[in-house]
Amino acid sequence: MPCREQRREIRRIALERIKRLFEMADAMFNVDPSLSHRYVELARKISMRCRVRIPRDLRRRFCHRCYKFLRPGVNCRVRLAKRREPHVAITCLECGNVMRLNLRGLKGA
Ligand SMILES: [Zn+2]
Repeated sequence: MPCREQRREIRRIALERIKRLFEMADAMFNVDPSLSHRYVELARKISMRCRVRIPRDLRRRFCHRCYKFLRPGVNCRVRLAKRREPHVAITCLECGNVMRLNLRGLKGA
């Protein structure tokens, strides 16, 4: 069992790798989307194994049902809904899943 210091270091590295994987997913999407989906899968595995949360700005970059990397205008649709609770609706065009992000209390969105 790693001690607290070590665990913090593991999590720091894990977070860096997750960010790097999403950067690569973004860069490779034009070349081969299946690679991007693979990078998302790897990032999720690191996140689960090291128990690190995927940062909020990256959480909306992939579908939470089919776990595919999402690029607006290509394989997902982003709509702003102002009625009732203002939210952003992201529809995954791979599987049809709709994710709703509440805008209230969301900084920098
Ligand atoms: Zn999906």
